[in-house]
Amino acid sequence: MRAVAVYPGSFDPFTNGHLDIIRRAHPLFDKIIIGIANNSNKSSLFSAEERTQLIEKVLHGWENIEIDTFQGLTVDYCRKKNSRVILRGLRAVTDFDYEYAISLMNKKLAPEIETFFLMADNEYSFVSSTIVKEVARHGRAVSNQVPDVVNEALLKKFHG
Ligand code: ADP
Repeated sequence: MRAVAVYPGSFDPFTNGHLDIIRRAHPLFDKIIIGIANNSNKSSLFSAEERTQLIEKVLHGWENIEIDTFQGLTVDYCRKKNSRVILRGLRAVTDFDYEYAISLMNKKLAPEIETFFLMADNEYSFVSSTIVKEVARHGRAVSNQVPDVVNEALLKKFHG
């Protein structure tokens, strides 16, 4: 059986931390599906389409990667995609409670699906989409925390 991992997230926007998780997980799976959560109750800076396009640009030329959007529960999406692995990144301890609770709930909902955690790299453990947006909104550089195309998109979004 091919090992297919779903890497779900908001990716609003995609950061170097996300990229690092994908780079490290890529050799471990036959395929990684980046599932961009498109939940209408969660407001986002970039539309699902914009987020998709940005990730496509960053990962251009990578093999065995699919970029997709989904609504609803991650476990339902995994089943639809025939994946039994949810890939998540863990940053500082603050991520732990939330990720642990979600992984337990997902296990209850879909016992055949495992959550696979990679610890954030030291260099990216404090990189977050939320902070990046806040800094970019105030006109300060975030170029070392996001890929170039994301940096350009942030500048355009906030400062025309
Ligand atoms: P969500 O809204 O689902 O948390 P995010 O886009 O914020 O979506 O994050 C998606 C996944 O990537 C989560 O597992 C998150 O912990 C992980 N992640 C986010 N930033 C980093 C980072 N800097 N290093 C490693 N993992 C990260």
